[in-house]
Amino acid sequence: MRIGIDLGGTKIAAGLVDPDGAIIREESIATRSAETFEDLVGAMDRLCRVVASGDLLAVKSVGVGVPGAVDRGRGTILYMPNIDLEDAPLGSALGEALDLPVKLDNDANCAALAEARAGAAKGTRHSVTVTLGTGIGGGIIIDGKIYAGFNGVAGELGHMVIQEGGPECGCGRRGCFEACASTNALIRMAREAMAGDPDGGLARLVGGDPARINGHTPFEAADAGDPGAQAVLDRWFELLAEGLANLVNIFQPEVLVIGGAVSRRGEKLLGPVRPLMEERAYSGRFPRTRLVTAALGNKAGILGAAYL
Ligand SMILES: [Zn+2]
Repeated sequence: MRIGIDLGGTKIAAGLVDPDGAIIREESIATRSAETFEDLVGAMDRLCRVVASGDLLAVKSVGVGVPGAVDRGRGTILYMPNIDLEDAPLGSALGEALDLPVKLDNDANCAALAEARAGAAKGTRHSVTVTLGTGIGGGIIIDGKIYAGFNGVAGELGHMVIQEGGPECGCGRRGCFEACASTNALIRMAREAMAGDPDGGLARLVGGDPARINGHTPFEAADAGDPGAQAVLDRWFELLAEGLANLVNIFQPEVLVIGGAVSRRGEKLLGPVRPLMEERAYSGRFPRTRLVTAALGNKAGILGAAYL
């Protein structure tokens, strides 16, 4: 048995994972209830004891997925964009509290590892997982292992520029993959389209309220036959394909996994993106990367952390 902890922006979730990759017991608390480093270690310590039903002897190790940069060797959180904690020795502190080995990695890397071991890329040695959400997270699996660079922070696929001079990105550059092709970018494009067509299908679907547009709205409006929403989707599919083709060219993964809530659209998303990606990617007489949606959903965080 191993324990995986997913340190998220809103909740800290821990799960006891059996050798077959099933989550036996899961427990979570609100992240805001752990304000200091000591609180955080205490909260994780308690969660681990709860999911192990008090029997830590049956647990071999604990892994933690962190929404930020980690020093994997020392088990230290370097920094997190949304949680105020720097240079925090979480691995050693939690390890001492539980008397168990504790490993840390970035949460997107954990999701990629989970999909590679037990999800959409199971059975492959080389895969890349791209998670579409507020931004674009990425994890690279090479020969069955997370590729994290010499300093542990590689795999920032969202900050590859795909459109010079394009939309501003949180990192300070313009035209990054995540500024162009994240779910947030899709929402922004839909809001712009709605502002230009206040009587269109998008506007009708949300009663003219731009705040009600989410990642599913353009799909629903296009399904109902709205050409404006279809145009937004077509443009977004192209931008997504642009970045994915780059990833195929660089990594030639056996499987390219698309995660995030919008991936539940399945072939409504992948169907149009696949040919756009393939026409942009380097091609020849060799096997081609398969584009698939993630299989593990929000369980990937806990599972991937346990697999560390
Ligand atoms: Zn960026």
